[in-house]
Amino acid sequence: MSKVTIIGGGVSGLAAGIYAQMSGLESEIFEGHSVIGGQCTSWKRKGFHIDNCVHWMTGTSSKKEIYQVWKDVGVIGEGCKMIEHEYFMQVDFDGVKGHAWRDLNKMEAELLSIAPDDKELIHSLIKAIRNFQCIELPALKPKEQMGFFDNMKLLWKMRKAIPVAVKYGKMTIGDLAQQFKSPVIRQMIHNYVPETYFAISTLYMYANFAAGNADLPLGGSDSITLKMRDRYLQLGGKISTKKKAVSIDVEGTRCTKVNFEDGTSVMPEDLICSTDVSVTFKLIGERYIDDHFKYCYDNPDKYPLFSNMNVYFAVDVPTDEIPNMEIFNCEPYTVAGRDVNIVIVNNFADQPGFAPEGKGILEILIVQYDHQYEYWDNLYKDREAYRAEKERIAQEVLKRLEKHYPKFAGKFSVLETVTPKSFNRYTGAFKGAYMGFIQTNLVKKEVHSGVLPGLDNLFLAGQWLQTPGGLPNALVTGRFAVQRLLKHKNMLQQFCCKKTK
Ligand SMILES: Cc1cc2nc3c(=O)[nH]c(=O)nc-3n(C[C@H](O)[C@H](O)[C@H](O)COP(=O)(O)OP(=O)(O)OC[C@H]3O[C@@H](n4cnc5c(N)ncnc54)[C@H](O)[C@@H]3O)c2cc1C
Repeated sequence: MSKVTIIGGGVSGLAAGIYAQMSGLESEIFEGHSVIGGQCTSWKRKGFHIDNCVHWMTGTSSKKEIYQVWKDVGVIGEGCKMIEHEYFMQVDFDGVKGHAWRDLNKMEAELLSIAPDDKELIHSLIKAIRNFQCIELPALKPKEQMGFFDNMKLLWKMRKAIPVAVKYGKMTIGDLAQQFKSPVIRQMIHNYVPETYFAISTLYMYANFAAGNADLPLGGSDSITLKMRDRYLQLGGKISTKKKAVSIDVEGTRCTKVNFEDGTSVMPEDLICSTDVSVTFKLIGERYIDDHFKYCYDNPDKYPLFSNMNVYFAVDVPTDEIPNMEIFNCEPYTVAGRDVNIVIVNNFADQPGFAPEGKGILEILIVQYDHQYEYWDNLYKDREAYRAEKERIAQEVLKRLEKHYPKFAGKFSVLETVTPKSFNRYTGAFKGAYMGFIQTNLVKKEVHSGVLPGLDNLFLAGQWLQTPGGLPNALVTGRFAVQRLLKHKNMLQQFCCKKTK
């Protein structure tokens, strides 16, 4: 039986393991951390549950290809519940409220009532979101294994989205937002990602939500990774944690040995690296950085990144009255040298067990651009200063929360603060980025081949292979890595030969 060694136990590594086992390969996942999940993780603080990741998970509609992949890995299907919010977010700008409703008629009517001057633009926006609902992330085969008919089928399915892509394809979120007079709509277009993102990402987000293809798993991030872990183990896979790879020996065109921090090593027959790609290049040697990644790393203007500072607040009373997600404007405050004038609130009230009985927990997201990573990286060298700055920012946010939610004044206390440096420290995330490269209007959507020139038995998985990253891209690249490995060994007919569901 062919043996596959997988480095990294995040979503992409777990997916690769599951598909390896489903295809009759023997596999083992080596995860550097003490727990699996990578960026899709959670932990406990003072009796509260800190969810580090999922705000929306695309692929929850059975009409989409990726649904099958989530089903294969055990995240969707029998016993897996989704939270289906009525609106994606509420924006409150100086007391005027707008919502990204799941019901697009309702969203259109509300936007027209708050911004009659933007009437034509609102009609076009809603029409674009409607037509974009047919968009698909190719999830069943890697691009080079897709034949003419696969491509035609996909194109036909997505035909209504083509004119939308042509119309909005060259715009950034900032370009689209500034066409509107209403600050509420401008903020809804910006939502919670950087303005350098291409405008289509906002349409994609709301279209998926309206199409029932972007919901929230009950139980949050854990329910994704723990279900994947269980599925992998049930299929006979093996997971070893606290196995941080420190180098990979290469002889000729083959990776021959993976060396771990604890002094042990394994001799892989085939190797799937699902670590952040920057970590993979450190392990195998920077001479293997291919033209694609070299270009991305050398051109941060075309391939920007972003991260977050997250502040979690315990609330002494239930938070059911607070929207599931809200963005409101506020007095500016400074974070890592940049003024912030909004507060993005994520409320976990509908996730049972995230807060003790009679209490609540809120997550505040503060977008951090790639140049801000350096600030956090430097500050971290002085732990006291790092801690003090995180506390200062948390207190600034607290003041604004109390002003916006006066009924809750005195009920908030800071539970946890996370910076881009934290993401880097715990998972090796390049510059703390928690998605891959941002999809901008300056370059085409990038889909990497998943292999590196000169290395025959190494296959890549992970969100960095497909802009803009995130859970769905991490997931499908795990599947693709196994398809590529099997194709390379002339064993593709064996793919998913052990279907169990
Ligand atoms: C705050 C936040 C919010 C997010 N929200 C969403 C969301 O709402 N929707 C969405 O789709 N996505 C979201 N994401 C992104 C999503 O979490 C990631 O895209 C996804 O989890 C990436 O998976 P991955 O397997 O590619 O990489 P990772 O999760 O980074 O997995 C890589 C694994 O490799 C391990 N590793 C690293 N170095 C080594 C080594 N040397 N040896 C062994 N193991 C190693 C790491 O510990 C990690 O477990 C969010 C992420 C964060 C942090």
